[in-house]
Formats: sequence, structure tokens, C-alpha cells
Amino acid sequence: MVQTYLNYVGGRWQPARSGAVFESVDPATGEVLGVCARSGAEDVADAVAAAKEAFPKWRKVPAPRRAEVLFRAAELLVRRKEELAQLMTREMGKVLLESRGDVQEAIDMTYFIAGEGRRLHGYTTPSEMPHKAAYCVRQPVGVVGVITPWNFPLAIPSWKIVPALVCGNTVVFKPAPEVPICAVKFVEILEEAGLPPGVLNLVLGGDETGAALVDHPDVALISFTGSTEVGLQVAEKCAARGKRVSLEMGGKNAAIVMDDADLDLVADALTWSAFGTSGQRCTACSRVLVHPKVHGDVADLLVDRARRLRLGHGLDPQTDMGPLVSQAQLERVERYVRIGREEGAAVLVGGERAVGDGLERGFFFRPTVFDRVDPRMRIAQEEIFGPVTDLIRVDSLEEAVEVVNGVRYGLSASIFTRDIHKAMRAVEDIHTGIVYVNHGTIGAEVHLPFGGTKFTGNGHREGGLQVLEVFTEWKSVYIDYSGRLQRAQIDLQPVSLG
Ligand code: NAD
Repeated sequence: MVQTYLNYVGGRWQPARSGAVFESVDPATGEVLGVCARSGAEDVADAVAAAKEAFPKWRKVPAPRRAEVLFRAAELLVRRKEELAQLMTREMGKVLLESRGDVQEAIDMTYFIAGEGRRLHGYTTPSEMPHKAAYCVRQPVGVVGVITPWNFPLAIPSWKIVPALVCGNTVVFKPAPEVPICAVKFVEILEEAGLPPGVLNLVLGGDETGAALVDHPDVALISFTGSTEVGLQVAEKCAARGKRVSLEMGGKNAAIVMDDADLDLVADALTWSAFGTSGQRCTACSRVLVHPKVHGDVADLLVDRARRLRLGHGLDPQTDMGPLVSQAQLERVERYVRIGREEGAAVLVGGERAVGDGLERGFFFRPTVFDRVDPRMRIAQEEIFGPVTDLIRVDSLEEAVEVVNGVRYGLSASIFTRDIHKAMRAVEDIHTGIVYVNHGTIGAEVHLPFGGTKFTGNGHREGGLQVLEVFTEWKSVYIDYSGRLQRAQIDLQPVSLG
């Protein structure tokens, strides 16, 4: 019997008004895991109305008390980590080790941001006037629409929902249609932790559901993570409707390998960065920029590692790499591999679907390394979001930095070198939101700002304390206790200080 998963609106679990549903499917086997409410604009309107009603009360709950709910949620996540990780692997395919990491990231984020309930600092500052106090405080924004992708089914929602809630906002959450059950479990945990009805609402569904949330006039802020194509559409709509919007979008991340690099470290780090989560991380390494002196060695090492990766179901402890998330994603990767071949790049390993041993039942693609890639090729410019990486020759650090920066994205980059001068110059000149030295392009930590430059984002950051800027607005307060009219300096002639 396949279980049904419902929306959560105003503290009640309920089906879509139309009764429409969609299936959540194991991408490794095609097994149907659940049948889920497919929400229309009317369900979104119900959820927004519930969030709007809950907002005046929730914003008045003292922040340390709001945080207590979140600390309890973190404890529940810890207790249920293994169960959630197994579900995640079944629902989106990544191997169990990585799913555990995803849950861990949600735990870390929840503890970290819940701590802000006792800080949420503003500041005081001297006034221009005597007998006048001046300070500023953070205010919640209102109803927040949270729209998320499928590749980090708990981590990414936690990056948005937890800070939104600690700051006193109420939320309508629209997860990706590939991972609805993980979203239901996350909301159940926050419900069990004691969130009052209406403070967090869940509408399951696809792109139309997300579009309805963006359109709704009572949503004050959209926090979106997903592709650049969709993010830009969301931003346009938000601009026209006067909404705030925070965007985390695509990447085309690069690692530079200089001729003095530790090549075993390079092989370990880049195999993990390029093929972990089957290359479906926004920070995945899809370009390896190599000095000619070590180009052959790096190519051999990466090809050897790629060949040795065992493909299979993510729950099997022998598996190194799971499937892609969907048929659409598989076709996208196949299309880009075709484009790369047509552009004249050479496939050193992989380049095809994986079949045999039952792999044909799922969306498996072999880890792929392209060589002879020109930085201007489409495979070196566009986000593929699969287990494909490009080898690009660069003759100098200057050329490498130029190639790293020569794409429209700016999320993550890294450099492998033993030379501190080269490392520091790369850190200085690379135009991305995240830079690593002697490490791959993945593996961010929650207490540092996360996000990218150029078409990767719109200037906001998640993670770190910077995330509070997204979910709060500033209120400046002046209290005049002089008992007379004191005009501000802009309204007066300059006063003599003598
Ligand atoms: P996507 O853009 O297709 O979808 C993201 C979310 O937006 C989904 O919930 C989807 O249903 C919704 N959506 C789609 N069309 C919409 C519309 N018109 N209006 C409102 N909502 C809409 O992305 P995806 O395939 O789920 O995820 C992969 C992408 O996410 C990649 O580009 C990856 O780089 C990016 N990503 C970025 C980060 C980051 O932090 N920068 C993190 C993870 C993933």
C-alpha cells in the first residue's frame, strides 16, 4: 500500500483542494514511494492566509522563546537522523553517507541559528543631539515563501526556514517535486517541536505551485534556491510585485591544479567534488584547470578513480555513486555529453548511461571526464549538473584565474598548490563567493556565508550571520528625552563646537 502525503496548512494536514496528486519515485529503481498532494493556486492561497493570520502573534513571541522550538527541532533531527537519511537516499538517490551529511547540515544549521534567538543583535550609537538615544533593531519581514531544489532535501530548506522562523516570520514552504516526502518529514519535526499552527505551512507540488506562491500579493519575501533560469524569472516577478527576493542559483565551479600540487590529494578531492551526489551539487567541480606539466598525470588519476567508482543503489554500502534524480536530469546530461563531443572535446572515461546489474531500471550515468576542452565551449560555460568534469589546460596562474572568472556563474572555486604566494593571489583574484585552498570545490560549513557572485545569486548570502539580513528589516529608533524640540543637524545651521 503506497502512503499518501498531504499539505500542512494552518496546523492541519490536508489534501489539495482539487484532489490532484503526483508520485514520488526512487530514482534508482522506479519504485513509487508515495502519492503526494499536487497543490494549485487555491491551496497556496489557503497556506498564505494561514501564515498571514499567524504572523502578528508569532512576531510578538520573544525571539529566545521562538528559538526554544528550534532547539527542540534540532534534537528531533539528531534522534531521527538515520531514518531521515535512508528516506532521502530512497527519494533522491544520493548515497547514504551523503544523505547523513545532508541531515547533519540541517542539524548544524538549526542549532547554529537557534542560538541567534538570544542575539539577533542591533546596535546603539550616539545621537547628534544631547539627551537623545539612537539605536536600531531587526524586524521580521512578514510571510516568507520558501522555494527549494531537490539536491539537498533537508539542508537547503533548513538554511531558509530556520532563520526565517527565528527572526519572527511565518513561512509557506514549496519543496521540489522530486523530494516531497523529505519535506513532509521536516515539517512534521517542526510541528512536533511545538511550532504554533500557521507559523509554518507546506504546499507540495511542481513549478506551477511555486509560481502561485511568487504571485501571491501577501507574500512579502521569496527565498529561492534553484536554477539560474527559473531564479531570474522569479526575480522579475518579485520586482514587478514589489517583493523582496533572495536567490541562490547555478554554478560552474572550477579547481586550479598548479604544477607543484600534491596530485594524490588532487585526485581524492576532485573525484569527490566532481562525482559526489552524482555531480548534482551547486558547488560540484565541473572544470579542472591544469598546468601542462601535470596534465597527463591528473588525467590518468581522475580516469582511474572514475573507473573505480561503483554505481548502485545509495542504500547499498558498496555503492560510491547513486543515480541522477530523474529522467529529465539524465537526458540533460546525455545532451551535454553529445554537445561536448560535437564541440571537439574528447571523452576519456564514461560518456554514457550505465546499464547492467539492474542499473537500467534507474537513471544512472557513468562518471565522465572530458579532455581537450576549450574554456569557450558550451560544456565549459554552462551548468550540466551531472557527473561530468572538464580538463582545461592553463599555462599560468594568471590564465587560470581568467578562465575561472570567465563564466557567468560565481559560486565556488579552488586551487591546489604548495606555493603560498600563488594560493593567496588566487584567493585575492578569483571572483566567487567561496574559495578553497588545497581542497575541492564542495564542503561548505553552515556558520560561514554561503552564496555566489554574478548569475549565481543576487547579492544575498545564506549561512553565517549574513542570512539574518535576508529575513529581517532594520528599524531605526530615536528617543528624545530633552523635553524640547531638537532639530536634526540636517535641519540646522552648523553649530560651533567651541
Ligand atoms: P529548478 O530551478 O528547476 O527548481 C527549483 C525550485 O523552483 C523547485 O521547487 C521548482 O518546483 C520551483 N520552480 C520551478 N519553476 C518555477 C517558477 N516558474 N516559479 C516558482 N517556482 C518554480 O532547480 P532544480 O532542478 O530543482 O535544482 C537544480 C538547480 O539548483 C541547479 O541549477 C543548482 O545549481 C541549483 N542549486 C543552487 C544552490 C545554491 O545554493 N546556489 C544550491 C542547490 C542547488
